[in-house]
Amino acid sequence: MADLVDLDLAAARDGLANKAFSAAELASAHIKAMEAARNLNAIIVETPERALADAKAADARRAKGASLGAMDGIPVTIKDLFCTRGIESRACSKILAGFKPPYESTVTANLWKAGAVMLGKTNMDEFAMGSSNETSALGPVVSPWRRRGDNRPLVPGGSSGGSAAAVAAGIGLGATGSDTGGSIRQPAAFCGIVGIKPTYGRCSRWGMIAFASSLDQAGSFGRTVRDAAIMLGAMAGHDPLDSTSVDRPVPDYEAALTGNVKGLRVGIPNEYRVPGMPAAIEELWQQGIAWFKALGAEIVDISLPHTKYALPTYYVIAPAEASSNLARYDGVRYGLRVDGEGVIGTYEKTRAAGFGAEVKRRIMIGTYVLSAGYYDAYYLKAQQVRALIARDFAQAYEKVDVILTPTTPSAAFAHGEIAGDPVAMYLNDVFAVPASLAGLPGIHVPTGLTSEGTPLGLQILGRTFDEPTVLNAAHALERAAQYTARPDSWWRQ
Ligand code: GLN
Repeated sequence: MADLVDLDLAAARDGLANKAFSAAELASAHIKAMEAARNLNAIIVETPERALADAKAADARRAKGASLGAMDGIPVTIKDLFCTRGIESRACSKILAGFKPPYESTVTANLWKAGAVMLGKTNMDEFAMGSSNETSALGPVVSPWRRRGDNRPLVPGGSSGGSAAAVAAGIGLGATGSDTGGSIRQPAAFCGIVGIKPTYGRCSRWGMIAFASSLDQAGSFGRTVRDAAIMLGAMAGHDPLDSTSVDRPVPDYEAALTGNVKGLRVGIPNEYRVPGMPAAIEELWQQGIAWFKALGAEIVDISLPHTKYALPTYYVIAPAEASSNLARYDGVRYGLRVDGEGVIGTYEKTRAAGFGAEVKRRIMIGTYVLSAGYYDAYYLKAQQVRALIARDFAQAYEKVDVILTPTTPSAAFAHGEIAGDPVAMYLNDVFAVPASLAGLPGIHVPTGLTSEGTPLGLQILGRTFDEPTVLNAAHALERAAQYTARPDSWWRQ
């Protein structure tokens, strides 16, 4: 059934509806693909029995003529940051080893309600802190992509690197991700797939292992804009268990994909150019502008003057919230415990042994910027700048409907290439972070390849809760780009 894994989500859905194959056959094909791709290290917990049981239940529903969900019988993978009842959920940290949540995150519960089939949990940077999936306690993910004529393993991006690599490699037809400062859009860019981070509040954060609560937002990965739209629709919705989830109906995202962008006002922010950005990215951006023009959109130059402060602002706010959120891992309530002298000794030993270097760095930075005497200078100042960044966007959206930018300042890099330089690593998210700070929706669309044959693409940002316009613009871009590249299957065992 090798050809079943070549279908995208929408095609598989239609095939199930036409009874061309069963959900059990589809699940078996994806289980095989998952097992054949173990050397990518993208899936850290495989749940094949669960997948087959879910698929058989989907087949039984269909046979009975029962009402079906939007994802009925569709196999997906889940980022390890989402708590899944009875299945180890550890955000790829040593400190949560063995933690099997007694509850289900709302986003995954919504997916199961929509009929989705659970294939497994995906690898990620520890507690979602990273841009390369090299901070995972379970080892790095290997991207299915390689540079032409170069066998060095490439990173899949991060922090949702396992999810993006899985979708790119044809393991599952979609995956969940979470984006705090780029962790859906950047790995989608490195893996040549679509990834959408919706507006803050669109998906419930309940049962997602917290990193920075004012920024964390769930979203979806798919091989096409349509696939990502279908999956996001199944994940989103109001949840009384998360007071920041917004009570407004979830639009039919798939119905928004008309491809018509005539008269759409597309903003081009002057500030999204950074020194050292490869010419290929600038060219791709210009090409994107030309495609939108050809489709009848109106191109408008805009300015987002506080963009240059977004990265430092993010790296104050995100660690501050992380230091507070991660205080709960103390060896008493969850996961790892290393006994020390007294309660403080146990905290110290547990946290020293349980957290990796990047997580410790963030806890120290976060604790520092929140401490007496520094709070006003760093944390409060960052909150003020965050408001200015949000205001830049609000002013821009008086003139434009969407904003078109590069997603990343470079294509995927090799393992270890920049792992020793935290600032170089943080720079990966320079184009992703401003929208995160403003809580706005953003999507990555693959549009081309570098001269070395690795994926590149563009980001579309939109107004709060205007995912339909963002998705439709992305769909138009995707059609214009006619991007069909898939990685070679060198990894298949
Ligand atoms: N790479 C960024 C960081 O390390 C963003 C991570 C994310 O969005 N979870 O914080």
